[in-house]
Amino acid sequence: MDKTLSQLIRISNIVGKDPSLIQGGGGNTSVKTKDGKYMYIKASGTALRDMNEQNGWRRLRLDSVLSIIKDKSIAQLDTYTREAEVVNRLLLACDDEVTSSARPSVETHLHAFLDKCVLHLHPAAVLAYACAKNGQTELEKLFKNEKLQPLWVPYTDPGFMLGKRIMKLVSNYQNHFGKKPATLFLQKHGLLISANSPDVALQLLRRVIKRCISKLRQPRAGKTKPPTQQAIARAKLCIHRAFFEATGQYATISHFYNDAIAAFWRQRDARKMLLPAALTPDELLYANGPAMWVGGAKRKKSRLGTPVDDCDSKEIAGRLASQIKKAKKPSVAFLVKGVGLFVAGKEKIAPTIREVVESSFFIRTNAFRLGGILSLNKEEQEFVNQWEPDAFRKKLANGSSEDEL
Ligand SMILES: [Zn+2]
Repeated sequence: MDKTLSQLIRISNIVGKDPSLIQGGGGNTSVKTKDGKYMYIKASGTALRDMNEQNGWRRLRLDSVLSIIKDKSIAQLDTYTREAEVVNRLLLACDDEVTSSARPSVETHLHAFLDKCVLHLHPAAVLAYACAKNGQTELEKLFKNEKLQPLWVPYTDPGFMLGKRIMKLVSNYQNHFGKKPATLFLQKHGLLISANSPDVALQLLRRVIKRCISKLRQPRAGKTKPPTQQAIARAKLCIHRAFFEATGQYATISHFYNDAIAAFWRQRDARKMLLPAALTPDELLYANGPAMWVGGAKRKKSRLGTPVDDCDSKEIAGRLASQIKKAKKPSVAFLVKGVGLFVAGKEKIAPTIREVVESSFFIRTNAFRLGGILSLNKEEQEFVNQWEPDAFRKKLANGSSEDEL
């Protein structure tokens, strides 16, 4: 196997196996060839952990990739046409013997003008800051003694525009420090690590995560009583009904319960922490926003004095319907205090949604403590939703079902 490709597969499998670094099909990795002519990069449709010699990558000509981002005429197109054009041009830049229709990551541009080996991940430990109101200041304090200062990238719509913005920021940084940045914190999005070898990149990644974690806290589950089968079945039925009433869809409801989930709902402000909208493009794409908090506020009593079930399907259906009315996608994750996390949707995708939601619990808990949660605003959400495959990717001949934002 080509040496550069084997390096890419190795680092992709290592980082892809760790849900604290990346959830679902998200994130992307790349390694450039020694002669600087080509770049191997993750392709859409395969998760990092599943990349192998046959699947999950493409090889592109670097000069072709750079010419796309530098093309001023592309920036002038409307969003929809622009992103479709970029995907087509990226496919044209491919120079390999891959026969599948997998296209290179839409975030290929972020990689093109950085060092030889680039990791783009969505680590919860970084997002706790990148999704906090004063996250930038906190990160600056944390990394102030670093020889090479991390670069802060204010939130930008993913895809071409983010690539363009990073190109500009990297060039300014280089003018100022005489070097390209090695660590880039992407507000409400994630992390970029850039290094001249895979091992240096992995080392730097570990160092950055360790530093970030040092000021964060994982809430404790303590002695939580696991839910009874009866309570689980009741909540499942209740959410199933509510989801059907609001959307007309018979969704499979999956149940998850573990210490991280219980630890989250035990916090006094847990309900409040779930109020801000989606924090990142990932949370919006996979989970349609934060998990909906169900029950547990005030335990109502029936007239006979017996506790009324916390899960009220009429009330949940009403909340889902009002999301739909506001042109939002209805929640698919529901946190029922004392019972667990419920996910509405195909069984195959449910564990991925759980991963995203659990990561969000950690981010929200810590961003809340760090001075407040910062979520995607309305325009930012609209861009991600519009950009999302339902409207956009299906139009592409090679339509794929995985995201790698
Ligand atoms: Zn991303």
